[in-house]
Amino acid sequence: MTRLLIIGPPGSGKGTQAEHIARHFNIPAVSTGEIFRTNVSQETPLGREAARYLDGGDFVPDHLTNALVKERLRDSDVRPGFLLDGYPRTAPQVSELDNMLASLGQRLDAVIELLAPDAELEQRMLQRAKDQGRKDDTVEVFRRRLDLYHRETHEVVSVYAGRGLVVCIDGSGEPSEITKRAIAAVEKFLTT
Ligand code: ADP
Repeated sequence: MTRLLIIGPPGSGKGTQAEHIARHFNIPAVSTGEIFRTNVSQETPLGREAARYLDGGDFVPDHLTNALVKERLRDSDVRPGFLLDGYPRTAPQVSELDNMLASLGQRLDAVIELLAPDAELEQRMLQRAKDQGRKDDTVEVFRRRLDLYHRETHEVVSVYAGRGLVVCIDGSGEPSEITKRAIAAVEKFLTT
């Protein structure tokens, strides 16, 4: 029964780390960004709507994102636990998630904050642009996403910090080292 969030700036390797950490704790990783991208590539109605925001690096409107997470959290595979990646990203999304969890009789155990210097984030994003060809991995769109992160998502971290839930992880270095670091820190946090 482990319920975790992972929060980190674009390019911090949040998605990759989420998968590894989730595997360790034997829980599904739920990535809103990934769900949106899948919908975009399958050209679903949600995908068509979301693409307008994704491509420019803007947040998808809360009503769409909240509804998507609400539905996903009702699935049976996430009953025993989950690692949410990319949600909540704004203060209103925090309240929404609070409501969703309260109605399910659940609560969060820890919030992982993955940190890396902005210059390193940009380098990694440029590399990912070559490797994966994500449409939102251009310098301008990346800067917009990073700016939004600093303006909006920091507040999310502050709210959870106020609740004593945040575990800070140094996100620089080798991905496998970061995974080890994160798992060790979360386990320690959960047992103390
Ligand atoms: P990154 O953290 O590298 O920006 P993500 O895969 O987490 O990448 O998100 C990609 C895009 O998906 C975001 O820029 C945004 O448009 C959309 N998105 C993902 N999660 C949310 C959310 N919680 N609220 C609004 N938009 C979101």
